[in-house]
Order: sequence, then structure tokens, then C-alpha cells
Amino acid sequence: MQYKRILLKLSGEALMGDRQYGIDPKRLSEYAQEIKQAVDKGVQVAIVIGGGNIFRGVAGASAGMDRVQGDHMGMLATVINALALQSALDNAGVQTRVQSAIKINEVAEPFIRRRALRHLEKGRVVIFGGGTGNPYFTTDSAAALRAIEIEADVILKGTRVDGIYTSDPEKNKDATKFDAISFEDVLKKGLKVMDTTAFTLSQENELPIIVFDMNKKGNLLKIVSGENVGTKVNL
Ligand code: UDP
Repeated sequence: MQYKRILLKLSGEALMGDRQYGIDPKRLSEYAQEIKQAVDKGVQVAIVIGGGNIFRGVAGASAGMDRVQGDHMGMLATVINALALQSALDNAGVQTRVQSAIKINEVAEPFIRRRALRHLEKGRVVIFGGGTGNPYFTTDSAAALRAIEIEADVILKGTRVDGIYTSDPEKNKDATKFDAISFEDVLKKGLKVMDTTAFTLSQENELPIIVFDMNKKGNLLKIVSGENVGTKVNL
């Protein structure tokens, strides 16, 4: 396997499937199968999951809510998604642990780095819920932070598009895809890969990012096996 330890970032919206809100159980079990394929090959898998399918702090703030309060709700939403994904992985026969950045001890372990590493070494998938545990951050930043902390080889950002394009491929038909691009070129060209905090953290710590289509069956396994799927952002 090309990658021994990965950090998979899944957005909350990805869990909606064809729905407008919430969690699609079919999509969840499809993801569990994709993840299982990588685990079965001996790859250590950590996951950070978003919460946008349930609540985003910014949306709350624009509706008149206190931003910090909204962000707390958003972080709880990521815990709900983490538990849902854990359940789907359980059903697929994959051993998992959820670790939360906000203490919620009856429901999930607290985030403890050494413990997370031990789980990974034992072949358990570790799902990090609660983002970074701080308001004004995103789960992309949580993904970069956790990936660095656990010394993951790469962040795999699973999205609906199959990589990074010269412009938004859902809006512009002439957009072309990069197979690989440097951190510097992403910045120079003003392309959006992750939010600035997450991107800078990855760049400073020389952590490569691969953006790929998580909805295409077999893609995750291809990537960990070393096939050129999606777009790789490297130094
Ligand atoms: N959030 C936060 N701190 C974090 C991570 C997330 O406050 O470290 C909150 C924030 O309100 C965010 C919401 O949780 O809008 C859901 O996370 P995100 O928007 O990153 O989810 P995604 O877009 O990946 O579904």
C-alpha cells in the first residue's frame, strides 16, 4: 500500500445522498464499504466528519443567533454524524472508536492522541467528532490538525467532484482538472481546496492533500494502493 495511515475528511453534506437534510442510510453504508476495503488491506484509517448536513454556525449567525452558540451546535452535529458513521462501520464488521473534541463521555471517548494512535495500530478506525472543539474553526481545519497530530501520510478529502479544476466544474464546462498541483500554485491561482487555516496548516507541515470523488466506488482503495485518482496537492 502506498499509504499506511490516512486521514479521510468527509463533509456532512456528503452524508445527505439525494436528500436535502440529514443522513441517508444508504450513502452511509456505501461509505462504510469503501472504508472497509482500505481497512482490509491493512491501511490505518482515521476519519474527520463535518456537520453541514445538520447545522452550520455561520447559517445560525446569519439568522440572528450568536455565532459561538451556533458553532457549538455545529460541533454537536459532527458528533451525530460520527456516531452514524460508526454505526454503519459496525454493521460492515469494522472495528471503530469515536473520539470527540468536546467532552461527551457517555457517548464517545475524549480525544487523546496516544489512545487514538493505539486504536489505529490495532486496526480500529478512529472517527474524530466535534471538530477542533473550538468555535470559528471548520472540520477541514480539524482534519488538518488531527492528520498532523497522528502523523498521517496524507489527507484524503472526499467530495462530490473528482479533483481540483481550473474553475468550478459544476458552473464552467471548460474547466480542466489538475492531476497534481503544488501548494504554492493553489494559492497563486486562487483555487479553493480547503479553507485557508486548514490549507496553511497542511502546507507548513508538509502534509499532502488528495481531493477525490468519494461517491465513485473503489476510488478510496485505488488511492491507498497508489493509483493516480483525483488531484494531489504536494509541496
Ligand atoms: N465547527 C466548529 N469548530 C470546529 C469544527 C466545526 O465550530 O472545529 C462547527 C461550525 O459551526 C461548522 C459546523 O461545526 O459550521 C460544521 O462543520 P463544517 O461546516 O466544517 O462541516 P462540513 O462543511 O464539512 O459538513
